[in-house]
Formats: sequence, C-alpha cells, structure tokens
Amino acid sequence: MSFSGKVALVTGARRGIGFAIARTLGMGGAKVAINDVASPEEIEEAVSALKREGIEAWGYVVDVTVREKIREMVEDIVARWSRIDILVNNAGITRDALFVRMKDEDWKAVLDVCLQGTYNCTKEVLRYMMKQRYGRIINISSVVGVTGNAGQTNYATAKAALLGFTKSLAREVAPLGITVNAIAPGFIDTEMTRKLPPDVREMWLQQVPMRRWGDPEEVAQLVAFLASQAAGYITGQTIHINGGLFMA
Ligand code: NAP
Repeated sequence: MSFSGKVALVTGARRGIGFAIARTLGMGGAKVAINDVASPEEIEEAVSALKREGIEAWGYVVDVTVREKIREMVEDIVARWSRIDILVNNAGITRDALFVRMKDEDWKAVLDVCLQGTYNCTKEVLRYMMKQRYGRIINISSVVGVTGNAGQTNYATAKAALLGFTKSLAREVAPLGITVNAIAPGFIDTEMTRKLPPDVREMWLQQVPMRRWGDPEEVAQLVAFLASQAAGYITGQTIHINGGLFMA
C-alpha cells in the first residue's frame, strides 16, 4: 500500500500498537507525526527508530486530553507538511477495577483519554480534511466495547462510545471524501496487556480460538488497509481483529 504524499497523525504512538501503526504507514511512504505523554527523550527515541527505517517522522509531547495543545500540534503538522490525510486515534489507557470500587478519578481518566482525546484530535484535524475533501479517520476501539468486560466499565464505556462516534461522524463526512472507521482489537501483546496478572492472561488466552495473542503489527496492517485508497468505499464500520475471541 502506498501512502506517498500523504501525511498521518498517530496518537499515543511512542510504543505498542501506535508505534507499529506509525511504522507501517511510514514504510508505505507517509510522513508520520506521533504524539505521546512520555518524556521528550522517549518520544525522540521512537522518532529516531522511525527515521532509521527511512521514515520522515516528527514527534510531539502532547496529551490528547489538552485541546489547545492538540490544536497547536495539528497546526504545526500542517505548517510543516502542508496537509493532513490520516488520523489514527490510538491513545488509550486502562484503570481497571470492579465498578463498586472504581475511583471517580479512574472513571474520568479513562473517558478523558479514550473518548475526549478522540474528540479533541478529530475536531482539530477534520477542518483540514474537509478543505482537502479527503481524509481517513481510524478509531482504535476494543472488543470489550462490544462485549463488555467485568472490571472495565470505564474502558468498555469509552470504547463503545467510540463506535457510535465512528458511525455518526462517518455519515456526516462521507460526502466530503472522508471515511471514518473503527478497529476493535482483541488481546494484543503490548505493555497494556503485559501488566495483567498471569492467571488473567492465561484465562483470556484459553478463550482465543487461535490460542495466541495478536501482534501489534497485525493491527497496523489492518489500519494501513483502512487508510489506503483501496478502502475508499468502507466507512462507518467496526472491523474486529481478535483471533476469533469474538465473532460479530
Ligand atoms: P500501550 O502500550 O499502553 O500504549 C498506549 C500509548 O498511549 C502509550 O504510548 C501511552 O503513552 C499513550 N498515551 C496514554 N495516555 C495518553 C495521552 N493522554 N495522550 C497521548 N498519549 C497517551 O497500549 P496499546 O496496547 O498499544 O494500546 C493502543 C490502543 O489500542 C489503545 O487505545 C488501547 O485501548 C487499544 N487496544 C489495545 C488492546 C491490547 O490488547 N493491547 C486491545 C484492544 C484495544 P505512555 O507511553 O507515555 O504511557
């Protein structure tokens, strides 16, 4: 898939699925901006890793929950590369607890990053895409946004909301050449899932018919397809990638 001449923003992309997405789009020829809440050194490390692969990349220490900073970042990307074609709303966090024990701040933190962050980034990027009459927006949801998951009312709520957001926005911007889709990964091997207790990991693994975790690269390939010209007639969809854990 060629992304030559295209500019992408992948949020929360210092590591994990986001980094794999940035790398895959970049390897296809896209200029890639990434942001994250890590230290400048950690962002620079990720950007250097992309550049070593010949990718034109730029990094920002910007929190997706801070609207003004997102605006400044998007303005900077457009000033640097003249356009913005692909937005991948990937930044996400978990703060798991059973609902009765969930702290108010953990409920709010997850909704702020996963949902408000997506609103903030989409709002700032969309006006450029509308002027260009071209855009690809891909929201990283989760299988638990469809199935629910005990201990993740905050996370599942945010990820389910992203699906309604995806479908509604897709209807609004379809006539403008902009597609909006969601990806719902199952269990992917990243730091987010590695921090789960071993018995919980094993319990989930037994429920995956393929008996293995997904690789961030596999999610990245799916994002790349949805971001490509080949996916021009796909919008408002939720694409599942989960080794058979859940079948829609
Ligand atoms: P990860 O390894 O924890 O990476 C998430 C990234 O988001 C980190 O780099 C993190 O920054 C960044 N981030 C967190 N808060 C942010 C904020 N406020 N602003 C900007 N960046 C922020 O997780 P992952 O597994 O790659 O997950 C990526 C996405 O896939 C998430 O939306 C997640 O919900 C979704 N997902 C993951 C799985 C899975 O099994 N792994 C399954 C379904 C969906 P720091 O590095 O600085 O912490």
